[in-house]
Amino acid sequence: MVTTHNLGFPRIGAHRELKFALENYWAGNSGETELDATAATLRHRHWRQQSHLDLIPVGDFSLYDQVLDMSATLGNLPERARGNEANPLDDYFRAARGRSPGDADCQVAHAGEMTKWFDTNYHYIVPEFCQSTRFHLNPERLLAELSEARAQGIATKPVIIGPVTYLWLGKTTDDSNRLELLADLLPVYGELLDLLAQAGADWVQIDEPALVTDLDADWRHAFNLAYHQLKASRPNLLLTTYFGELRENLQLACELPVAGLHVDAVSSPGELARVADWLPPHKILSLGVINGRNIWKTDLNALLEQLEPVHCRLGDRLWLAPSCSLLHVPVDLSLEQELDPEIHQWLAFAVQKLEELRVLAQALNHGRTSVADALDSNRQAVESRRYSDRVRNPELRDAITNLAPGLGSRHAPYPERISLQQKNLNLPVFPTTTIGSFPQTVDIRQARLQYRQGNLPEPEYRARMKEEIAHCIREQEKLGLDVLVHGEPERNDMVEYFGEQLEGYAFTRHGWVQSYGSRCVKPPILFGDIRRPHPMTLDWIRYAQSLTDKPVKGMLTGPVTILNWSFVRDDQPREASCRQLALAIREEVQDLEQAGVAIIQIDEAALREGLPLRRSDWAGYLEWAIDSFRLAANGVADSTQIHTHMCYSEFNDIIEAIARMDADVITIETSRSNMELLDAFEDFEYPNDIGPGVYDIHSPNQPEQAHIEQLLELAAHRIPAERLWVNPDCGLKTRNWEEVRPALQTMVAAARNLRGKQ
Ligand code: GLN
Ligand code: ZN
Repeated sequence: MVTTHNLGFPRIGAHRELKFALENYWAGNSGETELDATAATLRHRHWRQQSHLDLIPVGDFSLYDQVLDMSATLGNLPERARGNEANPLDDYFRAARGRSPGDADCQVAHAGEMTKWFDTNYHYIVPEFCQSTRFHLNPERLLAELSEARAQGIATKPVIIGPVTYLWLGKTTDDSNRLELLADLLPVYGELLDLLAQAGADWVQIDEPALVTDLDADWRHAFNLAYHQLKASRPNLLLTTYFGELRENLQLACELPVAGLHVDAVSSPGELARVADWLPPHKILSLGVINGRNIWKTDLNALLEQLEPVHCRLGDRLWLAPSCSLLHVPVDLSLEQELDPEIHQWLAFAVQKLEELRVLAQALNHGRTSVADALDSNRQAVESRRYSDRVRNPELRDAITNLAPGLGSRHAPYPERISLQQKNLNLPVFPTTTIGSFPQTVDIRQARLQYRQGNLPEPEYRARMKEEIAHCIREQEKLGLDVLVHGEPERNDMVEYFGEQLEGYAFTRHGWVQSYGSRCVKPPILFGDIRRPHPMTLDWIRYAQSLTDKPVKGMLTGPVTILNWSFVRDDQPREASCRQLALAIREEVQDLEQAGVAIIQIDEAALREGLPLRRSDWAGYLEWAIDSFRLAANGVADSTQIHTHMCYSEFNDIIEAIARMDADVITIETSRSNMELLDAFEDFEYPNDIGPGVYDIHSPNQPEQAHIEQLLELAAHRIPAERLWVNPDCGLKTRNWEEVRPALQTMVAAARNLRGKQ
């Protein structure tokens, strides 16, 4: 019999119950008991929703982050997070957010660093180590959840992050080598595993996704050391990998002394045969066959064709699961009552994915006829999507095939362009500007919501937004900024706004996915060929420009960022979807230019985020990603100035690609790095203009003029002053006007003062 199991279930709740419970608790509006009650209700509901599986994950639930949970379990919360009153829950939140409900301001510790969980859009709290770090076990949370689940009659499989990946995910604060902590860490893992066995766990899922990344010899050796030592522990270990191919780590993963191996069969279909060959005959092989990162129905009939022979070969040793934790998909499609029915039938969220798993196992265990109806309706849905004329637009496909070469190149090289642009724009040295958005007040959000719900007629809504734009322009003129923006009041989100206006996109109402802590995103669904039926930003920008003699930047989101923050189709390569998005943005750019907009900014906040896990795959990604940007941006006259913006990024290893974008101006987030991020630009002799962010917009703290000047002087050591712009790190939408006004005033004063010294 095939065993079915799950690697992790989304914990935020179908109605984001956990988000609201957390935010209430943090605001001091509810207590620990209420928060615990919501958490328990969600766990129980989620276990029930998985109850048809043979093994259900326990310990995958988290109040904030599973990596932070592991740090707490291993006694490795940072010192600064430990409060005076030894309330573990408050310490936990202080480690995550830098503050807890009872904290007076002076007690606020800095928040834990957040970084992307592999190549997903989930962010975890980075474990912190130093040479003297010592671990000790706090098993209470896991044991309590385990007994809670067993009391509900759940067939449990505790989930933990493995020791090597745990170290791999962290950073040392003293330059020591974190691998040296393994010796101290392993006994704590041993203790934990034995306690889990004592509490009745036969199997423990031990996640080691670091195995799908580039590992040097020391890290590979660490895997051997760790699992040879943990071999002595009592439960059966399911060594769990996901998010990519094992490649040169395949043999290592197969041979580690554990009872079973889980591999992500969705992202590494080509490796299955090799895994089956290398895996010793006594081991369980768990295949992650249902995509845990996307929202499409699985083609069950096609999958069965592949699985039946594997099942014949492995028999009971075959387990089936989603490719990775379902954390990365929304909870339940059945809530989407407003979604177009044709598209609805193509989709599967977490609950539906587990149902697919049930059907697969049933077909393998009892023959396809035992689930003939389910397989039939799955076939119909898959075919409906494959042949739908909403998915394929032949005209657009022809246009893309026949794109003339050279469309991605500007006419003249940068030095010629910039002098033309300078003549037109007539800007001072150290020109000042902002990144695009201005405060999104409650009032603006309310108006957008009412409009969406049909309670505010379109003309009134437009008038309301124009009022806001006019206000923004007035404020910027008063501040004396040189290049203005319209302020983006009409945008709920920099990707959703464009998706909503493009053909080929669909939207959910409840399709929330956790991004970090209580923060969720609702990625739009790119289901078909992309077409821009009408201009998307033109009216707003034209209106803003009509109010001022200063140049107003047209403001767009770039194709790579739109792609990376959407659920995208799996029936064509990502690069093909990206090129279609690029063409749509290109049309918008050209409309703006036609309307006399002299500066157009195309944000690529998520360009770096999209880098593949393996270095050897970077060049391929960067090639098509940068080509897409160039296609979107570079169809303009030399006198039109193209800007791009990127949020916090390391540029060292992608600087060549950044230069190939050939944007006239790039604005980047740098203030917290003391301009060190500019080193990459200096070393590469990056030729075009740069606007290094001069103050951190994530913090409510007011920047000081002297500090901004100092930062700009540091910048001018690296980049000639005549190529520097002055701007904040990122958009201002999360701040309020009381913060923004004085901050920008200071910024403008700093720029003027430096001009005087030129
Ligand atoms: N133009 C966007 C804004 O200012 C850019 C946001 C971003 O980079 N994340 O809000
Ligand atoms: Zn940004």
